[in-house]
Amino acid sequence: MTRALVILALLASAGTAAADKGVGYVAGAKTTLRLTEIEGKDVEVRTAKAFRIMARAASRKGIDLRIRSGFRTFAKQAKLYKQYRRGEGNLAAPPGYSNHESGRALDLNVSGRAYDWLQEHARTYGFHRTVPGEAWHWEYLGDEDKDAIERASSKKHPKKTKRPTT
Ligand SMILES: [Zn+2]
Repeated sequence: MTRALVILALLASAGTAAADKGVGYVAGAKTTLRLTEIEGKDVEVRTAKAFRIMARAASRKGIDLRIRSGFRTFAKQAKLYKQYRRGEGNLAAPPGYSNHESGRALDLNVSGRAYDWLQEHARTYGFHRTVPGEAWHWEYLGDEDKDAIERASSKKHPKKTKRPTT
């Protein structure tokens, strides 16, 4: 095989072997998600695609975007929720209700210039900061009404009754 063919073959195998099915939750209801991996982290495929495009753009500006937490299983969310309830962890939604389980949410590194870059450019790639007080939590909302999302996420005092989705 020529070198070009070897590379093509590698790309093809990476593309097909990566997607895997997983059980996710959207607002308490079980759903099937397609998952892929980014640096060892499970990420829903549409979120992953958008993240890769965004990360490439950031990297051209010398910013290294990294995923700390991507897709979570019900069991993982249950564990985080328990820690939160004990006062040991970050705000966590009850299992079944986190957007980490729906595949939309990514916790990103926001050190250095990464946060400023995200604030300025993430929405171009469909990502929005949705949880007040969690600079690292970004959700891929794709082509949904971006103005409405902006309005919702810029509220300083979300209603106490609103269920957390983090
Ligand atoms: Zn999060």
